[in-house]
Amino acid sequence: MSLIPIVTLPDEKTLREVSKPVAGIDSHVKKLWDDMLETMYHAPGIGLAAIQLGVAQRLLVIDLAKDGEAKTPIFVANPEIIKTSEARSDYEEGCLSIPEFYEMVTRPAEVWIRYLNRQGEPTETHATGLMATCLQHEIDHLNGVLFIDHISRLKRERVIKKFQKAQKLGKL
Ligand code: ZN
Repeated sequence: MSLIPIVTLPDEKTLREVSKPVAGIDSHVKKLWDDMLETMYHAPGIGLAAIQLGVAQRLLVIDLAKDGEAKTPIFVANPEIIKTSEARSDYEEGCLSIPEFYEMVTRPAEVWIRYLNRQGEPTETHATGLMATCLQHEIDHLNGVLFIDHISRLKRERVIKKFQKAQKLGKL
């Protein structure tokens, strides 16, 4: 396994790319998942999409285990949201591609997802709470959508400008 640099703002060209489905689960996909997981644990974070490492494939890793708890990695390929609840929930989200920025986002409280697991088997899952939020945040990445797209335009423009300025000053 190896650590891969995480793509951050202001690199919107990469982060806005729409990722392509994988044809199946082979050794390349498994190697990429392992690198994604190691990179995510190291960051640290609870979810990562392949595009955040510059790879436009519809692959995610998620692990909601807290510090000191046994790891519970979930490997997701080609996820599709089948259904979402009417009920909404608010969560203060962050993103490894937008370091040190957190904002409240409102999303459906529950989601039903279909995806391929690490064995390449079609799998369906129903998620609530933080897992529902995390899955929606990560699936957004596969469509070139960032969590700042769910907040006000003013706040979004402000954070993008902040990263553009930091890059110009050579601080990124
Ligand atoms: Zn993110």
